[in-house]
Amino acid sequence: MSFVTVKNLRKTFGQETVVCDINLEVAVGETVALLGPSGCGKTTTLRCIAGLEQPDGGRIVVGDRVMCDIEEGTLIPPEQRNIGMMFQSYAIWPHMTVYENVAYGLRVKRMKPAQISEQVDESLRIVGLQHAAKRYPSTLSGGQQQRVALARSFAAGPSLLLMDEPLSNLDLKLRERMRVELRDLLKQLGKTAIYVTHDQADAMILADRLILMNGGQIAEAGAPRDVYDHPTTIFGSEFLGSTNIIDFSDVVNESGQTVGRLPNGVLLRIGNAGTSLRHAIRPERIALSRQCEPGWDVNVLRGVVRKTMFLGNLTYYDLDCNGMTLVVQAQADSFGVGDELWLHLPPQWLQSVI
Ligand code: ADP
Ligand code: MG
Repeated sequence: MSFVTVKNLRKTFGQETVVCDINLEVAVGETVALLGPSGCGKTTTLRCIAGLEQPDGGRIVVGDRVMCDIEEGTLIPPEQRNIGMMFQSYAIWPHMTVYENVAYGLRVKRMKPAQISEQVDESLRIVGLQHAAKRYPSTLSGGQQQRVALARSFAAGPSLLLMDEPLSNLDLKLRERMRVELRDLLKQLGKTAIYVTHDQADAMILADRLILMNGGQIAEAGAPRDVYDHPTTIFGSEFLGSTNIIDFSDVVNESGQTVGRLPNGVLLRIGNAGTSLRHAIRPERIALSRQCEPGWDVNVLRGVVRKTMFLGNLTYYDLDCNGMTLVVQAQADSFGVGDELWLHLPPQWLQSVI
């Protein structure tokens, strides 16, 4: 069941439409990642849901409450939305103890002292910082400070958590640990959350479902694996990992099979029939060998290694296949520049993209 529904959300700043008819739904207990490059409208979308920004059009429903409906003239102020927020500049106050930082929002809400104490204790327990209640932020590590901010965002027991790049100030190692911790915590608490990030690894690891935005619009949406394996746009296939884009000069149907013709005349069988002449295939989906392997009955090409990019556990090889360059991922140090190799492009991994 859908807990958050955003319909035809639109936001302009001056002449510029930065959020353009966004539609999205979030189910109860689900974590949805809004992913996309800087400036694509993620923060603006989130701020509209929080009530910090007034949309120019659209409707936002959280639970059974209409938070905003521009046509009807409904606009609930942010402090009445019962939404928890955690932002990139998570601004925990240095002059307040951990306890006071988490309690602050509850005091603003004029909650009773006994209840504040109970909810702060519970929040700190959840993030594993109960022992640090009396400490000041400057005595905590970056990861602990992050947890204080997290505890603060859900101390008031919000129905929905909005997070805007909450991990982007952390160094890579800590970030890698925190994203897993955060995911486990959201699941343990059964929270419904929208998580904004420009980092594909954050989104892939944290999200039950990801929504990829580009230029104020949704480019791709689905479970991380589905969007990764079956992108429908060039933007999506390139933003999530690396890809090869193949431009066929013609896509035809030959005795029940869809076949693409390369500019050099070679034919490739395509598993997922699409309407586009452009197809994407990921570097790790192409098989590479010194010989034509058994079972490679279609889509076999020859290529010469032009470049190698060693990444430790694997290597990317740039191959020249009769004028077409393909990047193939294989085990490290398997081949070298100048090697003449065989490539197999499984038809099912050739993905029609626009
Ligand atoms: P993202 O979070 O995806 O990086 P934002 O939602 O912050 O993107 O911004 C989207 C676009 O809207 C950007 O071009 C940004 O410059 C513009 N923008 C955001 N906030 C404002 C504002 N208050 N006034 C004018 N332009 C804004
Ligand atoms: Mg942003």
